[in-house]
This record gives sequence, C-alpha cells and structure tokens, in this order.
Amino acid sequence: MTALVIAEHDHASIKPATLNTVTAALACGGDVHVLVAGANAAEAAKAAAQIAGVSKVIAADSASLAENLAENVAAQVLAIAGNYSHILFPSTANGKNVAPRVAAKLDVAQISDITKVDSPDTFERPIYAGNAIATVQSADPVKVITVRTTGFDAAAATGGSAAIETAEGVADSGKSSFVGREVTKSERPELTAAKIIVSGGRALGSAEKFTEVMAPLADKLNAGLGASRAAVDAGYAPNDWQVGQTGKIVAPQLYIAAGISGAIQHLAGMKDSKVIVAINKDEEAPIFSVADYGLVADLFVAVPELGKAL
Ligand SMILES: Cc1cc2nc3c(=O)[nH]c(=O)nc-3n(C[C@H](O)[C@H](O)[C@H](O)COP(=O)(O)OP(=O)(O)OC[C@H]3O[C@@H](n4cnc5c(N)ncnc54)[C@H](O)[C@@H]3O)c2cc1C
Repeated sequence: MTALVIAEHDHASIKPATLNTVTAALACGGDVHVLVAGANAAEAAKAAAQIAGVSKVIAADSASLAENLAENVAAQVLAIAGNYSHILFPSTANGKNVAPRVAAKLDVAQISDITKVDSPDTFERPIYAGNAIATVQSADPVKVITVRTTGFDAAAATGGSAAIETAEGVADSGKSSFVGREVTKSERPELTAAKIIVSGGRALGSAEKFTEVMAPLADKLNAGLGASRAAVDAGYAPNDWQVGQTGKIVAPQLYIAAGISGAIQHLAGMKDSKVIVAINKDEEAPIFSVADYGLVADLFVAVPELGKAL
C-alpha cells in the first residue's frame, strides 16, 4: 500500500499545504511518495525529498507543466496512478482543480476535504458547513482524496532523505493554454499560511474604514487580513480575503474577528483557529460562542486601542 501526494509548489520550493497532505498520507498507513510535476523544478523536488516520512519523490519535468494547467497535471498523475492505493491532493484551488479529473478518469469517487483518516479506507469530512462530520468508507480500488490542510499538522519540512526518481513528463494536452496571470502582491502573510489573522466584518462600513481601522492592527501583529463575506460583497475588502465556507478555511494560532456576527458560514472557515478573539458590540453575537476571549465593545474604539497597547 503506497500513497501518492501531489505536491503544491512554485517549481523552486514546496508550499506548506503539501506538508499537511503528507501527514494525511502517512495516516493511510503505507509508504508515501510525492509527485513534483513542474518545469525546471529540481529545487522543488529536492525540497520534497527532505520532508520527514516521504520515501520517494517522483520528479516529472516538462514544459507542459510550467503553468500548472489542470489538464496536463492530471495526465501526469494518471501516468503513474497505477502504482498507488491512495492519491492525495491538498484541498487548495490547484488541488481541487486536478483531483476530480483524476478521479473521473480512474472511474472512482473522489473523497473530498478529509479532516481525519480513521483507517486506510475510512475517512472523516465535515458537511453542512462543518456542523456535522461524515464518516465515509470507500470500496474503490484507488482512493482519490483532497485533504483539508487545517485538519492535519504539517509534516516536518526537513529531516527526510527520500530518493528522487525521474518520470517522463507528459506532452501538452492541447485542451487549454496559458494566457496570463495576475498575482496580488502583498507584504502581509498569505491567509492560509498566516499564524495570526485579523478579520473584519460588515460593521466596518466602508473600504476606507476597513483599511484605516484593521490594517494598523494587522501590521503590528504581522498578521494576514481577513474579512467576512458581507464585507467582501460590500466591496470593503478584496475577494481573496474572504474567510468561510465559500472563502478560505484557516486555522491560525490567533484569529481576531472585529465586527463579525459569527454566521455558521463564517465559523466554518475559522473555528479551528487555536485562539479566537471577538470584538462585537452585541453581547448576543454568535461569534462569542466560539471565542476564547470576547470583548463587548465598539470596534472603532477597541481595535485602535488594542493596536496602541501592543
Ligand atoms: C451559501 C452561503 C455561503 C456563505 N459563505 C460565507 C463565507 O464564506 N464567509 C462569510 O463570512 N459569510 C458567508 N456567508 C454569509 C453569512 O451567512 C453572513 O451573512 C456573513 O458572514 C455576515 O457577515 P458579517 O458578520 O460581517 O455581517 P453581519 O452579520 O451584518 O454582522 C455584523 C456584526 O457587527 C457587529 N457590529 C456592528 N457595529 C459594530 C461596531 N461598531 N463595533 C463592533 N461590532 C459591531 C454587529 O453586532 C454584528 O454582529 C454565506 C452565506 C451563504 C448563504
């Protein structure tokens, strides 16, 4: 029984979501291999070989894999899929783009967003925005899985010494082509990797106030900035800051929610945070039910004061 983890990488280094996925793969009970499908990605393959618990890295290098096109990455996974009992992707935008194609081609059901491995064929996954946990048993010969990274600790990035084997890179599928990429550049940590997140809700009232009130606190704490969907929909914060069921799932060491009511769809994205601080002027706000520390206060007073006190 061997599990294959599809690495998330930028051709030079391995992204943290890969490490949590390796932990899930190790929990499946057998050997763990990592596929690094990229172009000129030798450095990423070397980094993958150092992950603790990984016994082999398969490096597939091809110009067709330079832009991470899902059709090509899926074909690369399928080229070696026959050797594996489990194929695991991080439940990221990339992973979720490739995994269903692999599952469909293998004619198996995808097991999505697992948070626990009970046994090699039985997994736990949240449903109804995290209000219930489904235990799913799969009889498929290959388990194609996406892993909710907040459900598993990160494997150590160093300490391993896996062998690196090269695999022939797939040809371009010709079904899609890369046109361009616009990447948001931010000095702040990316939300899913941030150790601290400062998040604001509809109460902020405008994009200007959001920046004026929330950004200084985030700067002080070197935190990522998050937002509720109401704040995003109102244009107070950009789309990629949204935390929740239809946004990002995060579990930082510290999550500070200011002017966020705590709707279940928001909680679904942040309730696994280690310490939750809520600032809300309504003492009945549901966010207080998950908060470790709650402050009933006007955020326009409390957030600047907190920033000053730090
Ligand atoms: C299918 C679906 C998916 C969804 N996905 C998401 C998701 O991914 N993420 C998400 O966040 N939501 C999501 N939602 C929306 C969710 O249901 C809520 O509408 C949303 O989270 C509310 O955002 P909010 O807490 O900022 O706003 P509100 O619910 O309006 O809450 C504002 C809060 O601010 C407090 N407040 C007001 N003024 C102040 C002040 N001066 N100082 C302090 N506190 C103040 C109020 O007491 C209130 O609690 C989804 C909804 C659906 C139906």
